[in-house]
Amino acid sequence: MSYPDTRLLIANTWVDAAGGKTRDVLNPATGQVIGRVAHAGIEDLDRALAAAREGFETWRFTPAHERAALMRKAAALVRERADEIAPLLTQEQGKPLAEARIETLAAADILEWFADEGRRVYGRIVPSRNLDAQSLVLKDPVGPVAAFTPWNFPINQVVRKLGAALAAGCSFLVKAAEETPASPAALIKAFVDAGVPPGVVGLVYGDPAEISSYLIAHPVIRKITFTGSTPVGKQLAALAGQHMKRATMELGGHAPVIVAEDADLELAVKAAGAAKFRNAGQVCISPTRFLVHHSIKSRFVDALVAHAQGLKLGNGLDAATTLGPLANARRVQAMTQVVEDARARGARVATGGTRVGSEGFFFAPTVLADVPLDASVFNDEPFGPVAAVRGYDTLDEAIAEANRLPYGLAAYAYTRSIRNAHRLAQRIEAGMLWVNQPATPTPEMPFGGVKDSGYGSEGGPEAVEAYLNTRAVTIMAA
Ligand code: NAD
Repeated sequence: MSYPDTRLLIANTWVDAAGGKTRDVLNPATGQVIGRVAHAGIEDLDRALAAAREGFETWRFTPAHERAALMRKAAALVRERADEIAPLLTQEQGKPLAEARIETLAAADILEWFADEGRRVYGRIVPSRNLDAQSLVLKDPVGPVAAFTPWNFPINQVVRKLGAALAAGCSFLVKAAEETPASPAALIKAFVDAGVPPGVVGLVYGDPAEISSYLIAHPVIRKITFTGSTPVGKQLAALAGQHMKRATMELGGHAPVIVAEDADLELAVKAAGAAKFRNAGQVCISPTRFLVHHSIKSRFVDALVAHAQGLKLGNGLDAATTLGPLANARRVQAMTQVVEDARARGARVATGGTRVGSEGFFFAPTVLADVPLDASVFNDEPFGPVAAVRGYDTLDEAIAEANRLPYGLAAYAYTRSIRNAHRLAQRIEAGMLWVNQPATPTPEMPFGGVKDSGYGSEGGPEAVEAYLNTRAVTIMAA
């Protein structure tokens, strides 16, 4: 199956890096090099920034309904090309083709929603204290945006930022993930083919720290948005603060799953099991800490083990595969350490726990039972196909454990009691809570965390607001 080399997009032209530098791209199912990605230097970034500045001047004064029409055209191209784009995503990232296709089609859905939301960016007229004056509240795009996105959802992580920024009238320069470059490039190409003016979208790859420190400090950039780990997010947020740049931070999580005594156990295992192993657990909202009432814990563990053992591990391009490889060798090493640490502290490895094969980055779906609280898997984001289970006695004890960590991204609960559901809704410290169902992020609902999981939202009207300035204008009749 073919896989293209990826170039930079500057002012609507696909170019190699000025210095000619490239970096290899690996297929995580084989560990083999499948292509190359251009590696931008400062000269390339300067050209991309100049283009973003010009693109902003065009786009901010393009009427909202025209912006929406262009975004819808790009969305239609993404949908039309889903069967070409999804295999690129699978080859560079590893996830099963069906998941890659869903991610691609979801991108079109997200773009369409933001296209329409951009048409509803209204200001307001405030009754003035002086009848000869009119007081206006205006909403303007904040300016050129620099975005930094990771490798776990190479398309989705870009499109949530891109959709909101373009809807608001900003130009958008993204440094997507070097390990998964071709699928975000296909997304960006849909905009070029839809006729976006030069400089409105730009795409670069290179050294993440070099690019982020240069772009965040640069006066052309007025807003930054980052998805990735909490430690990197804190560094970038500090840099944004230093240069007075607006920022949205979508960072790590460690999602608790509370399975109450009165839960529908079959539903809990099916929904939470599917969510746990989606994208091999490399998901910021992946369920990670399973807190199960003692009375049903052993039945829950047995059923989750059966679910894990029913998964078909393999190359994501194979139609039968339901669990692909991890995205890179770092994750295999991290999962091996997580399991060894839990085992050494007294957890039971109920299934999995090891790397599979020597080719590619495969790791067996793993269930750890009776995990002590000091195990690393219960404290640091595992970001892999490992479910860690422990029991609890009272709901308040489970809520306290759920809130113990500095993370606050997603949380899940299974209960038939409306009283429990309301108590959880009130007390769980997470940006998103799903009760009796797996995560269902939609563009119209807020998406983001609290505490160390970051700030800002990548869904709902709040997502567009994050790319707008609010200005007050009062006009007195002369
Ligand atoms: P990492 O923390 O170095 O990188 C995470 C992402 O941030 C990558 O895409 C990387 O390119 C980018 N990055 C790193 N340093 C950067 C910088 N100075 N400026 C701009 N971007 C930078 O490590 P990793 O091995 O790629 O991933 C490890 C951890 O990252 C995972 O365990 C997980 O916790 C987290 N992660 C989170 C998400 C998410 O969706 N929130 C996605 C990917 C990774």
